[in-house]
Formats: sequence, structure tokens, C-alpha cells
Amino acid sequence: MSLDYELLRVLHHKLKLQTEYQSQIERGPKKINLAKANVTRFEEELASAKEVLKKARLMAHDRQLQLSEREAKIEDLKGKRNACESNKEYQLLNDQIAADEQANAVLSDEILELLEKLDRFELNEATAAENSAKSRIEAKNIIEKVEKELVIQRAKLAELVEAITKLEAQIPAEIKSDYQRQVRAKADDALAVSNQETCGNCNQRLNPQMKSDLTMQKPVFCNACGSLIYTAAKSTAGS
Ligand SMILES: [Zn+2]
Repeated sequence: MSLDYELLRVLHHKLKLQTEYQSQIERGPKKINLAKANVTRFEEELASAKEVLKKARLMAHDRQLQLSEREAKIEDLKGKRNACESNKEYQLLNDQIAADEQANAVLSDEILELLEKLDRFELNEATAAENSAKSRIEAKNIIEKVEKELVIQRAKLAELVEAITKLEAQIPAEIKSDYQRQVRAKADDALAVSNQETCGNCNQRLNPQMKSDLTMQKPVFCNACGSLIYTAAKSTAGS
């Protein structure tokens, strides 16, 4: 039985393309998932920046309230001091006012620090919002692009599968089931081009019988990896 090696050459080429399209089609959803994960990550960063800012605002507000209450208390003490009748009481009130004013100065510094932090947190929130918006636009573009590509790749793959089926129908019945087993297991590696010395798939050396079979374009399966071996077109053959 002789085998049309040209058929195997064309078939091998199409099987390789099929593998390539299948891997492109598998990569598409992965790209989409990556873009979506990016959006989620930036959304989380934005939520956290908002939370930090909210807490800092509340704290600044709380401290400012505290400060005005304490200032009112000092005014109150000052009123009492003006109205007091004994020197001792005057001195006591004076000391308390001084201590309270000291404490208020510390609180004022704390408030200033908080306000500076607020500026930073507001900036962080704005940056996070910008990043989040950008990631959403990027994801939208990626998804549109990948989905367009997937439509094309799937159409090309369907064409290829049809062409491959037609070519496979020409494989002689005697070796068909062996070939099909190889294709199911190894896809395009089911076929191996040989330089007449080694298997193009696994590099196993061919024995003399295999070499002679190859010369006569007979079906040759590799002893090591099982691939169906064929030879490259000879330039001397004129085609
Ligand atoms: Zn091999």
C-alpha cells in the first residue's frame, strides 16, 4: 500500500493551523478575565481610598467640635474669673485656663495634621477613581477586540476542521484507526516530517526498513512516539 505523502504534508500544515487557532481561541477568554480582574482590583482600591477619606473627615470633624467645646469652656472660665472675689479662686481659675489653653494648642496642632492628611487622602481618592475609570475603558476595549477576534478565529477554525475532515477521508482504511488514535492524543504531532534519518516529532533514529518504506511512500509509524511519518517534498521531484 502506498500513501500520498503530499496529502500528509497538506494535512500536517492544516493540523498545525488548527492547533494555533484553538490556542488563540483559548487565550481570548483568559484575556477577558484578566481585564475584568483588573477592573475589580481598581474598584477595590477606590472603595478603600473612599473609606480612609471618610474616616479621616469624620475624625477631623470630631476634633474640631471638641476644640470649639473646649474654647467655649475657656470663655466660661474667663467669665468666672472676672466675677470671682477671692485671690485664691482667681489664681485657681487662672491656672485652669492656662492648662486648658495648653491642651487646646495640642488639639489645634492635631487638627492641622489631620487636615494635611485629608488633602493627601483626597488626592489618593481622585487617583484611585481615575485608575478605576481607565481600567473600565481598557476592559471594554479588550473585551470588544477579543470578541471580534473570536468570531473570526472560530469561523477560520470551522473552515479548517471541514478541510481536515475532507483530507482525512483520503487516508487509507488500513491505517485510519492508528492515525485517528494519534490525532486524538497528540493533535498536529500525530504527523511527523522526516529527513529520512530521524522522526521529526521525537528525533528517534529510523531503522533501515523504515527508511526504505519512506522511500517508497509507504505508511511508517515511529517506533518511539507513534507519529505517522512522511518525508518533505523533494526539490529534485520537480514539484
Ligand atoms: Zn517519533
